[in-house]
Amino acid sequence: MLDSRDVKELHPCLQRAAAELIRRLKEEGRPALITSTYRDFEKQNALYAQGRTAPGKKVTNAQGGFSNHNFRVAFDICKNVKGAEFSDAEFFKRAGAVWEEMGGVWGGNFKGFTDMPHFEYTGGLTTADMRGGRKLAEDAKMKWEK
Ligand SMILES: [Zn+2]
Repeated sequence: MLDSRDVKELHPCLQRAAAELIRRLKEEGRPALITSTYRDFEKQNALYAQGRTAPGKKVTNAQGGFSNHNFRVAFDICKNVKGAEFSDAEFFKRAGAVWEEMGGVWGGNFKGFTDMPHFEYTGGLTTADMRGGRKLAEDAKMKWEK
């Protein structure tokens, strides 16, 4: 079961973009920390069980293979301030705005299960595409790099 917070586990396009997001936020006086990058299907299924067949509250609507974390094209962040990691909605809204300006998709705008700490870029691929073996191109670039 693998659940990484190492940015090097992400697709190269996402590695660059995550670093850029953190840099831009820092420049604005908003320290951010990456808390999750790549998860294998087994870890995703364990998270899905939480609040359903296992104790805890629901943290995801995605089973293994249905999260972009499983395909190295999503990451989560928190505010890097002890005691205020997830409580500052303004921090996440600003981070989401910066990320969307860069060309990514922010979980805070998901329909249904809103996921404010979540950031992704798939180049338009769905998880169904990726379960079927399609991948974000190795040389993919987000809007901010073009
Ligand atoms: Zn996430």
